[in-house]
Amino acid sequence: MKITFCGANREVTGSCYLIKTEHASVVLDCGMFQGGKYAEDKNEMPFPFDPAQVDAAIVTHAHFDHTGRLPKLHKEGFRGKLWSTKPTAELSMITLRDSVRLMQEEAERHQRPALYSQEEVESLEGTWQSIEYGTEREIAPGVFITLSDAGHILGSASVKVRADNQVIAFSGDLGNTPVPLLRNTQAIDEADIVVIESTYGNRVHEPGSHRYAILKEAIWEIVKNKGVLLLPSFAMERTQELLYELHHLHVTKQIPRLPIFLDSPMAIAATDVFRHHIDFLNTEAQNEIHNGEDFFRFSGLTFTEHGSESKQILDVPTPKIIIAGSGMMNGGRILHHLRNYLGKRNTILLIIGFQVEGSLGRHLHDGDRRVHIFGQEIDVHAKVQSCGAFSGHADYPRLVHWLQGFQHHPPRRVFVTHGELNSALSFSQAVEEQVGIASGVPEYGESVDIAYVNHPNL
Ligand SMILES: [Zn+2]
Repeated sequence: MKITFCGANREVTGSCYLIKTEHASVVLDCGMFQGGKYAEDKNEMPFPFDPAQVDAAIVTHAHFDHTGRLPKLHKEGFRGKLWSTKPTAELSMITLRDSVRLMQEEAERHQRPALYSQEEVESLEGTWQSIEYGTEREIAPGVFITLSDAGHILGSASVKVRADNQVIAFSGDLGNTPVPLLRNTQAIDEADIVVIESTYGNRVHEPGSHRYAILKEAIWEIVKNKGVLLLPSFAMERTQELLYELHHLHVTKQIPRLPIFLDSPMAIAATDVFRHHIDFLNTEAQNEIHNGEDFFRFSGLTFTEHGSESKQILDVPTPKIIIAGSGMMNGGRILHHLRNYLGKRNTILLIIGFQVEGSLGRHLHDGDRRVHIFGQEIDVHAKVQSCGAFSGHADYPRLVHWLQGFQHHPPRRVFVTHGELNSALSFSQAVEEQVGIASGVPEYGESVDIAYVNHPNL
């Protein structure tokens, strides 16, 4: 079995792997490169393989940096099935539909062709095959996969691929569990080779228990100052977790009643997927739902689906809370709110997710006090606060813990991907020193025949 690294190598976005066995070729994830000035070029580059020769694709979860090039794969000849959990299929289609619309608007503005069309997105609709966690399925001749819950977003999976008498385990994106809605990240107990993400390979997050305290403090501050709390949020998972937490603070009367806006059509659609798949939530959340709680509907919370409703938020007196996408602030409705409120001293911008290099969110996170939004120069007077406790990604101790889960058959080699260079290298070194497994950080386009990957002497 041979694996080729086709994205998210020494960077966080663009996840894509080609797995070639004696009898088949399979792609695992096919994500968009995001942020940075070369992202567009990289997305337009041909795949380092022929999509028409690929038999099947596995999708670990619905984030755009894992799904965004699936329509391009189809456009260039791929006609196999897409294998994932059911929520991943539904959430992926929501993401892809939303993004293609934005991509086309962008392409028109710059008078260049879009990477793919709405039709190419729609042609994926009938090709999804859903698969349950823990059930092995043959997805191409001689290629067997088993998904386990990665605890990252609804339906997210780590994947065990068995073929040619070898096993490769892909972490996918691992969650920062325990979290309010999802089940904890599940271990995989056997693999010859492991491919693991390293988004936060050199960081230790604040404990999850801090989340309520941070939210509560920020809310009381804007209540006191009659300000606005801006929460740029990823549409899937982070938003629903925020709603869960705000609902909890609200019903336990830890915060006063104030207007809360979910200003993201994509997040609103994703929230519906959560409602339809409560069996994917953890036991506590399921029990609460069975006892009649509705985390996604409570007094003060308004979903603003249409653009006209979104514009009216500006007229609502402060204090107020606005949750809007995109999570990295490089597009979406959050930009309008940032333009309106970043210049005000009584605004709090709470950054709760990973901000890729080159994104507006990264600039603000790094302390830039002057930014450009819609061509307008804005001096930042708002309080900008970042908090790792809300992260959807495992930190260093959680990544190590997952690697230590291979109790039945520990891997002989680890490949570290999906992390900026410093993070990936530092985690790879830690894998050798702390876990005692040989490790490396592959480059884009590198291929490894795993039959020839032996136990090196550490
Ligand atoms: Zn992800």
